[in-house]
Amino acid sequence: MNVPLLDLVAQHQGIKDAVLPAVMSVIERQGFIMGPEVGQLEVQVARLSGAKHGIACASGTDALLIPLRALGLKPGDEVIAPAFTFFATAGAIHNAGGRPVFADIEPGTFNVDPAAVEAAITPRTRAIVLVHIFGQMADVGALAALANKHGLMLIEDAAQAIGARRKVDGQWRAAGELGTVGSFSFFPTKNLGAWGDGGMMVAQDDTLADRLRRERLHGGAREYYHDEVGLNSRLDSIQAAVLLAKFPYLAAWGARRRDIAALYTAAFAGIAGVTPPPVDPANEHIFHQYTIRAERREALLAHLKSRGIGHKVYYPLALHLQPCFEYLGVRAGALPITERATAEVVSLPIYPELTSAQTDAVIAAVREFYQG
Ligand SMILES: *Cc1c(COP(=O)(O)O)cnc(C)c1O
Repeated sequence: MNVPLLDLVAQHQGIKDAVLPAVMSVIERQGFIMGPEVGQLEVQVARLSGAKHGIACASGTDALLIPLRALGLKPGDEVIAPAFTFFATAGAIHNAGGRPVFADIEPGTFNVDPAAVEAAITPRTRAIVLVHIFGQMADVGALAALANKHGLMLIEDAAQAIGARRKVDGQWRAAGELGTVGSFSFFPTKNLGAWGDGGMMVAQDDTLADRLRRERLHGGAREYYHDEVGLNSRLDSIQAAVLLAKFPYLAAWGARRRDIAALYTAAFAGIAGVTPPPVDPANEHIFHQYTIRAERREALLAHLKSRGIGHKVYYPLALHLQPCFEYLGVRAGALPITERATAEVVSLPIYPELTSAQTDAVIAAVREFYQG
């Protein structure tokens, strides 16, 4: 049986009656830039994130770049981030003029280790970027306390974690709520995906939110008057209309992803050679990815391919070992937990439209590989 890693066509079949009229209304109105849909989406995402402000922008990458640019980084200023993440996390630091400083992760959740972040703080540190990797939140309580103590901006890269929650001091906190800025991506494959690129920043602080809004639109609060040089990074009204139409489904989609994850984890618990992804009991995971550690990974990948089971290695090369970051002088072996993860992880199909025949096929293929 063929099980694609992700099936957006199946998703579209189920919701197109809701999405197409919303898009057609933008087209009929010919209101493509900063239409009312953008503001409505900003309100919805801010509410979901427990944040006061939502500021839409052109991509998840820009949702990281814009707050980093607002810091006005000077040459040599450092920003701490994990190296086990999508490239954009560190690319944005570099493009904002900062020097990425990589911190190792926790072996269980794959999230950045607050103790490693603390050890990486120097007098040049200006910000911390945490990543809620694969849809499970990092220890944002500990990292917010650290950022606070040292006067640093804390950016939550929540590109993979829209709607995820974590109990902090006994209270549910949403992804994007406790950071100085929370950054979301609406790349089509994310849990809430547009029909193209899109992103959103959320923030609590009024002054900062104004600054981010200016930075998104050429650095001017008033048209044709510019306080600083900003970017052109808007979210199209068509994309906002798509996202608004999909938004009501997001909670049920997350619950279905959790159900599938529980099914996989129960099945894999009995298979020697596979370590299912542990969920921190403080977290409500949204399973953007279901990522196992696998013994004899390369052989498993070939087996999954032969059985038609979609799979991908997120991420095969840690960011401190990328050629473009050679100038940082971080050697192999510097981040042992990150490097080990890149050698062991495999992500398997997880999306709400998977049928039980398909999840059975995924489990059967993994079982067959390890147990014959
Ligand atoms: C997808 C992603 C981004 C970038 O989002 P784009 O919308 O593709 O620019 C940033 N960080 C992480 C962790 C991501 O997964």
